[in-house]
This record gives sequence, C-alpha cells and structure tokens, in this order.
Amino acid sequence: MIKFSLSAALALCFSSYVQAAPAPADTIYRNGYVYTVDAKDSVQQALAVRAGRIVYVGDDAGAQALAGKKTRVIDLQGRMLMPGLIDGHMHPQSGGSRLLNCSLDYENLTVPQFQARIQSCLDKDKKSDSKRWLVVVNWFQQGMQPEGIETSAATLDALKTERPIIVRSSFGHSSLLNSKGIALAGIKDDTPDPVGGKIVRDAQGKATGLLEDAAQDAAMNLLPPLTVAENLAASKAALAAMRKQGITSFLDAYTDPETMTAFSTLQKQGKLTARGHFAVLIDLDKGATPKSAVAELLKQQKQFDQGATRVAPSMQVRHAKLFMDGVISAPAFTGAMLEPYLVNQGTAQQPNWQPGPHNGPANYFSPEALTATLNELAAARIDPHIHVDGDRAVRASLDAIAALRATPAGALVRPALAHDEIVAPADFGRFAQLDVTPVLSLQWGKPAPDTVGALKDYMGPQRYAIVEPQSLLLDAGARIAYGSDWPVDPLDIWFALKVGVTRTAAPDAGKEYAGTLGTQAGMPRAAVLRAATINAAYTLRQEALTGSLEVGKLADLIVLDRNFFRIEAEDIANIRVLQTMVGGKIVYQAEGMH
Ligand SMILES: [Zn+2]
Repeated sequence: MIKFSLSAALALCFSSYVQAAPAPADTIYRNGYVYTVDAKDSVQQALAVRAGRIVYVGDDAGAQALAGKKTRVIDLQGRMLMPGLIDGHMHPQSGGSRLLNCSLDYENLTVPQFQARIQSCLDKDKKSDSKRWLVVVNWFQQGMQPEGIETSAATLDALKTERPIIVRSSFGHSSLLNSKGIALAGIKDDTPDPVGGKIVRDAQGKATGLLEDAAQDAAMNLLPPLTVAENLAASKAALAAMRKQGITSFLDAYTDPETMTAFSTLQKQGKLTARGHFAVLIDLDKGATPKSAVAELLKQQKQFDQGATRVAPSMQVRHAKLFMDGVISAPAFTGAMLEPYLVNQGTAQQPNWQPGPHNGPANYFSPEALTATLNELAAARIDPHIHVDGDRAVRASLDAIAALRATPAGALVRPALAHDEIVAPADFGRFAQLDVTPVLSLQWGKPAPDTVGALKDYMGPQRYAIVEPQSLLLDAGARIAYGSDWPVDPLDIWFALKVGVTRTAAPDAGKEYAGTLGTQAGMPRAAVLRAATINAAYTLRQEALTGSLEVGKLADLIVLDRNFFRIEAEDIANIRVLQTMVGGKIVYQAEGMH
C-alpha cells in the first residue's frame, strides 16, 4: 500500500517536471549489474539517487539524462550493485563490546592454546589491579581440541595472575571461572543449582568452575556494567563492523536502555550509519504481568523511538523479544523438544542411543501467558520476535499465533520466530499459513563441532535429518528472513549467505566437517539474497522503503567486489563490500573503489 502511494507520488512529481528538465541526480551508478530484488528479481544497468532516494533504475542512457553539473557519476565497471543488507536478528551492543574485549575469536583451540591466548590478554593489561575481573569472550566451547576435552578452574588457575577470570562461551549458555572467580561468586561445592541453571560438578561433587545458564548470574552480577563511555565505544564498533559488511538496517534482538542511549547519542551526532530497530524483552518471570511488561516496553518506546523511517538513519522501538526456550546444543539441552533427547545406554565403544528421561525445560511461557502477552502486544501494535530453538517451542508459538490471528488486532501483527533449529515436519507449512516469518542464522546450516557428532547422537537420525530446516521451510512457502545472531558467531554475513547456498563449512574447517549438513539442499541464491534484504525488511515493517532497488525507495545500497550470481558458490564467502550507501550517503568505501 505504502509502496503504491509512494510511486504514485513520485510519478506525480515527474509529471510536473515534464515541461522542465528533471532535477539532476546527486549520484548516478552506471555500467553495472544492478540486482534489484524487485518482484521479478530483475537486473538493470544503472541507478540514480536524489535527496537520499532512488529516482531511476534502468539503462545507462536513461540515467545519463539525469546527470547535471554536480552529479557524482560512478562507473561500476560491471560490478554488482544491490540493496543494503538487513540483519533481522543481532546483538550489536554485545557484539561491539566484544570487539573491545579479550577474545578467543570462536577458534578451535587446544588447552595450551586456550591458556596462552588468555595469558597474553593478562600480560597486555598489567595496569589492572588484582580485584578486576578479566572477561574473556567468544570461547567456542564445543570446538575445544581434541574433541571432548574438558576444561575446569584448574585450566585457568595455571595462568600467572591474581585476578578473577570469567571465560564466556560464544553461545552465551556457559562460563568458566578460575578458583578466585568461584570464590568471589560465593559458589561452594554444596551450593544448590539455581532454577534454570547448573553448577557443573565432578565425580567427587566438587564444583569444576563451569557454570551453565542461570548459574552464570552468580558471576555475571559481579561484573561492573559498561560505563557510558564503554557503551558508546561498543555502539561505534558495532556500526563500523556493519558498514564494512554492508548492513544498512538491523534489529537489536534484545536491547536495554543503556544500548539505546548509546545509539541515540550517536544518532544525534549524525553517526548512526544503519537504520536501528530495537526489541525490548518481555520477561514474566520477574513478577511482571503481560500488561505491566508491555507498559514498560511502551515507556522505553516513548523514550527512544524516533518515528517513521525517513531518509537519515534513525531508531525505532516496535518489537518485543520473548524467549520460549534455550538451545538444543549440548551440554545445555535447554531446547524444548517434542520428543526426549537421546542418551547413550551403551558404552563409548558400543553406543546405544535411546530416548532419555527429558525433552528440555517447560516452555518459558505457558500457553495462557503467551496468548495474553501476544494479545497485549498486538493491541499496542508491537511485533513479537520470539526465540524458539526446539520443535516444541516452535509448535507452542505457532499455536498461540493461530489464536492471535483470529483477533482483529492479531491479524495485523508480523510475528517472527527466530532460530527454528528443529521444526516438526507437520509444522513446516504453518509458517506460510499463519504468515509467520522464520528468522534464520543461515551460517548454522553447516557441519561444525556443534552440529556433527554429538547432535546426531542425541537427536537421533530422524530429527538430525531435518536440523536447520532452511530449504524445507522455504519449499513449504515460508518467507525466510536472515539474522546473523552476532556475536553468537562472528559478524560475517557473506560466509553466512554462502552456507545458505551450499550447507558446507569453510574449506579450512577440517576433514571431519567436509561435505554438507544432512541431505537437505541449500537454498537458491536468489532466495538467500531475499532473506537478507526484502524479507528481513518486512519483519522491520520497512519493506516499502528498503530491501530492494526501486524508484521511490531509500537509497540503501552496496557495491560488491564480485558477482554473487556468477561466481563459484564457495567463493560467495569471499565477497567484499566496496561501498555502502545509506539514505544516499556513502558511509563506507573500501580501497579500490573510486
Ligand atoms: Zn540472538
């Protein structure tokens, strides 16, 4: 609707110029492979921008007619120009702050390498006093080498320092502490497990230093919150990383007032270089009711939302984040599954995997609480963005949305279900039926330490065959949107889009991760690009203005160093963005792009 009226307005604009010459464009891109992501995924040659909007898409001659004395004309030399990327689920503040932390970079490490990396962080920061926590991030716990090797407080106690240390897994579901850290966190061998968490203990019942899920709070609550300056630095680092990747809009999938304060400071300084959307958490565990939780969200909306999308990037607060479960990966097993996780009733040599005693936690929202919350959100015109990892969490959410759809306000909602690592085949078609967008981290659909081996064992062959059901949902008619989930993984969108196409790991991932994940086909390239552009724009209610290159839309676009459609699929991971434009303004330019 909005799209129609916009182009109508532009057509009017043009008709009044028929007598006079059209106003010259600010920028013209010519001689390119202009991939539009319009309804037909059409490819054009040239594009013109005026006052932050696209005023022409077509051939070179037509663009040339809009050239004036001051027009910047960019010869693409055949390069691909496409809409800016839209990341439908990320955590910019923790991503940005981790760029500033001691990082293990998601690498597969041996214990000595793990120790050496952390020691070097300690050595670099000799000024900090012995009470200051060293926070280590991006630990790929499942990737420790050799496979199955355990780490404990002793691993960290071997380092030369008096400081407490916390090493946070990239998944966010576990943390390893040294003995000093355990003592400060007040954890003793007989401390009971908190609700929703686990203090890992050895065979003698001694706490090992590893804390899972809610048990991490004992240590996390001791870490000083980011200062205003650190928050600003994190937002800046996040935006710099986005510009370089070609991200022009994003959803912060779990925000807080400190994050929004930092982004609004940058916005006021004209330094917000991507359109920011922020989802506020709805958590009924803390004594809130659906009504009070939504009221709190609206309070934050009132403070930080800057109104409708316009040419210059701004902030919108129109999403709620809900968690229905945790993650299906070991050792957490907090994904809510319809059927039990399998356990090995045999030996390591002769395994015998059989249904175990549990199928993950109860869904974090009861059916009644979810329905009440969704109705409250719909009445407030807030779109729900629901974390669902296991098939039971997915089904419960779809059931609640089915009920929501029957209400007048619920019919207008744009619900998104994030992650969907395992979906029961009976539910594939319900995404399209109920118009629910799966927001998928495409990079998860590859053989990796967390998908090959253990997952196959404890899920069993039937469920393993449909893990990361990207093309299964696509073929069932779902509108797939992409979300990086940064910093659960590094921010590497071109690698993620490659995996979406190939379902293969990086060539240097190692022999055990060769081949594709399962037997599912990858997604067609055009579908992968739609996921990261127009479909993600839809989840942000921004598809009338962004997500494709069409006359009347905002000039959010990127120039690539190679053609996504004409290179080997594996080479997609190597694509570099040469230029990023947001609202007609060039916000990033790589070397070699003139
Ligand atoms: Zn997330």
